[in-house]
Amino acid sequence: MIQLDLTVALVMLAVVVLFALAAILLRVLDGRGFLASVAVGYSIIVGGGLGWFIIVAVFFTLGVGFTLYKYEYKKRMGAAQEKGGARNWPNILANGGAASIFALAELFSGGLLFAALFVGSMAAAASDTVSTELGLLSKFKPRLLIRPRSPVPPGTSGGVTPLGFVGAFFASLVIGVMASLLGVIPGVLLPLVAALAGGLVGSVADSFYGATIQRKGFCIVCGKPVENLTHCGGEPTRRTRGFSFVENNIVNLLGSVTGALASLISILLLMGH
Ligand SMILES: [Zn+2]
Repeated sequence: MIQLDLTVALVMLAVVVLFALAAILLRVLDGRGFLASVAVGYSIIVGGGLGWFIIVAVFFTLGVGFTLYKYEYKKRMGAAQEKGGARNWPNILANGGAASIFALAELFSGGLLFAALFVGSMAAAASDTVSTELGLLSKFKPRLLIRPRSPVPPGTSGGVTPLGFVGAFFASLVIGVMASLLGVIPGVLLPLVAALAGGLVGSVADSFYGATIQRKGFCIVCGKPVENLTHCGGEPTRRTRGFSFVENNIVNLLGSVTGALASLISILLLMGH
């Protein structure tokens, strides 16, 4: 818990706005994404402090970095993120929405509870993003998590690859090491376990939701299987499977909440409660 005075509050706002402005200038964030980033970032820095915000900044940089890595190759495969990988407001809320609520709750109650939830949700978001982007480069065809014998095209939600698991592990480790160095969770073992539990459970859950409840469909213009609501210049797509409101961002939000809970449970087990 932290005490806020006006100067500190304004300096924090400046830090968040400058970070989001840099992202706009680098074309990795769009206009409404900027507003969502400032809202999420400011909640996190005010609620948790600078260390918490640095974790979010590391997640964002890691995610954008892996999205842009071999972007042209992924684009030729038809699996690259749209708009040059620029994040929009639904992406920001899907990956940072739960984290910002945990940070605001931290204002009213210190201790490990919300720190564990926060680190778990960030590790899950980082793991999912990095494993998806690395998985697109996999030499092995992705397989559905729930039906390992069925290969699926790269980029299919619910598909998993060995390289993707390496990515999930790496991203969780980065978040855990940062959480330890910044003292978001005290010690070394606790933050590492919290991040690995959150990241690995969160990204597996993400693949599970992607393979089961996520909306799948096809484009009525070009006939390709697509997961987005629109295709071919904004034409609506037709749903074939999943729930109509469960698109990729909803799956990511559910994944980050699942990761947060896994992180909290792992810490409670470790502390012997
Ligand atoms: Zn189409």
